Amino acid sequence: MPELPEVETTRAGLAPHVLGRTIRSVVLRRPDLRWPIAGEVSSVLPGQRVEAIRRRAKYLLLDTDAGSALLHLGMSGSLRVLDPDVPVRAHDHVDMTLDSGQVLRFNDPRRFGCLLWQPRGETHALLRDLGPEPLDDVFDGDHLFFASRGRRAPVKTFLMDQRIVVGVGNIYAAEALFAAGISPVRDAGRISRERYARLAAEVKRILAYAIHRGGTTLRDFISPDGAPGYFEQELSAYGRGGLPCPACGTSLRQALVGQRATVWCPRCQR
Ligand SMILES: [Zn+2]
Repeated sequence: MPELPEVETTRAGLAPHVLGRTIRSVVLRRPDLRWPIAGEVSSVLPGQRVEAIRRRAKYLLLDTDAGSALLHLGMSGSLRVLDPDVPVRAHDHVDMTLDSGQVLRFNDPRRFGCLLWQPRGETHALLRDLGPEPLDDVFDGDHLFFASRGRRAPVKTFLMDQRIVVGVGNIYAAEALFAAGISPVRDAGRISRERYARLAAEVKRILAYAIHRGGTTLRDFISPDGAPGYFEQELSAYGRGGLPCPACGTSLRQALVGQRATVWCPRCQR
């Protein structure tokens, strides 16, 4: 599944091809993805110039004068910029032809993605209640500390709550908690300010590193023949239940926490 780093890498990879371009035409090969594709994508977007391409949580926004196309890659989506003669493949659901002659093509085999519309000056309902971006300065240890007081949910569940902070999925929650030495099952409300400072720093470090590495595989995102380009993770905990802890060698424990598979080291993480 594309996580925040893949979405950010997609944004950065698309920007040079899409920014400042006018969208000449839009082809929808089906009316819906996870939800019906917004009518404005066909009726308003053609003729509009892309003023900015932004990411909010795992959503991408193509900003124009009239409003923003709001995309989500879902479980399996990818966006590529292609020459117009590249044949359409299975699951290529949407084409946006740019005034450069290139085509921005949205492929999504499982159709958990979406293509919606945010009118200018409004915030779409999907974006309204989101917490801060993990790489923004407002996200720090104090944010986690004050938001967690009185909470009895496991800290991993708390960290993955999009109202607390966006874009920390199962993989990055597991890795950040491992790096910070915090047990994922500890009550969120019983973790000190100092330990939350460490956790916030690890979330930032791990996400920034994944984005940096994604930048090195950027070509895969836009090449016609490349795989979607979701990069290999260097994982210490996630998916390694029963294997030795990379720090101390203890067998990593695995359990469901908030219905999500969770792995941690019972010795290094308290
Ligand atoms: Zn360990």
